[in-house]
Amino acid sequence: MTPWVWLKVYILALISYNSAGDKMSVIPIRVMPDPILRRKAKRVRIIDSSVKKLIDDMIETMHAVPGRVGLAAPQVGVSLRVFVIGIPGEEDIALINPEIVWRTGERLVDEGCLSIPGYIGQIKRAVSVKVKGRDQNGKEIRIKANDLLAQALEHEIDHLNGVLYIDYLESMDKLRKIELGEAQL
Ligand SMILES: [Zn+2]
Repeated sequence: MTPWVWLKVYILALISYNSAGDKMSVIPIRVMPDPILRRKAKRVRIIDSSVKKLIDDMIETMHAVPGRVGLAAPQVGVSLRVFVIGIPGEEDIALINPEIVWRTGERLVDEGCLSIPGYIGQIKRAVSVKVKGRDQNGKEIRIKANDLLAQALEHEIDHLNGVLYIDYLESMDKLRKIELGEAQL
């Protein structure tokens, strides 16, 4: 085949890949006491089409309801080290095999979790964090963050280790009921 024919084949393959990728689905969210939320998630060995589909579905699921700003794979029933974050007004983040490089400072925050619906609790989180991981193309990325993004990064990485924010509360009596629509991780 001539190079032009190869190019056409390549473009057609890209188009069919993209159209397959467009079929995203909203996945039901696992809630406490689902045991998957307490399991340490496995590292992703190969970033294949199933991992990319998982990320697309997680982004779709996160944006399906206002107020969702982050989602970790165990929350959609997949015990893999993958999370997505969507802070309103900022670009979505998807991170594979994330690790905290460093964290500094301490502050009190109100925190909620999609897997513990209807409640919020006050806990301590870092002021700034630096996280590294890989994007959907396998490229290493590093994120330095403050505020809600720093909190979300810590929250989602906790999920991958089977940790929930309620673990940081002195007692479950410290949980407060919230209105629907408040930010949930
Ligand atoms: Zn959560």
